[in-house]
Amino acid sequence: MLTWNLQAVGDGVQTPEEDTFWGGKPKLPPAMSVPICGLCGQEMTFFLQAAFPQGHPWQGKSLALFYCTDTWHDQFCLPEAPDVRNLNNADIPSSFLRQYERTFRTLVFDTDQGVLREDCTARIAYQALFPAKSNRPKQDADVILGGEPVWIMGWPERPACVDGNQRLTLLAQIREGLRFPRLEGAPPQVNPFLRSGLSSQPWYHLFARARVYLWGTEEPSGVPVYISVQAQ
Ligand SMILES: [Zn+2]
Repeated sequence: MLTWNLQAVGDGVQTPEEDTFWGGKPKLPPAMSVPICGLCGQEMTFFLQAAFPQGHPWQGKSLALFYCTDTWHDQFCLPEAPDVRNLNNADIPSSFLRQYERTFRTLVFDTDQGVLREDCTARIAYQALFPAKSNRPKQDADVILGGEPVWIMGWPERPACVDGNQRLTLLAQIREGLRFPRLEGAPPQVNPFLRSGLSSQPWYHLFARARVYLWGTEEPSGVPVYISVQAQ
């Protein structure tokens, strides 16, 4: 199955031409709002975006991911799980997906509509990513597009479909524990387990260091992206 293991490239200076990267400022269609956390109202931190390459089921589309790093939201530091008996082979209601993005946001758009958004605050050091084509996922790659999920808990939690009929495919996965280097001057990530309430580390984590799986319908359909996680 076609897979793209993303590799860090370039000199860390953001240019408007790059479509796949983490940190810096996002490239979004001009009319798309920069997301605000649904629980605390702060501007979310932009983490990364990827343009799906030729041969990926979502080729021509891009996906950007934002997450609240300013406030600790207890159980909502992880994406809410749907109310199903077993996450493997689950049928996810679209009504669930339309309301579960509280502390994070996925934005999907036509790649060629994205423009560098100067109105968004950069908090993470920019890193351009190159999609290296492969026929299987590289276990230790930071970000992987397409292909098969790497299950780190030893069992699969592959959702089947949305609303009983729209089959889901793995769009991308993000390695567990991945450190997104924080720009000097950017506020530290909240950490309720430290006396200061703030992380002392010069990086941000997504979803409490879990491995992140982003699922979408087999063709882009307007159904929101479903995010599941596994943690060691
Ligand atoms: Zn928040």
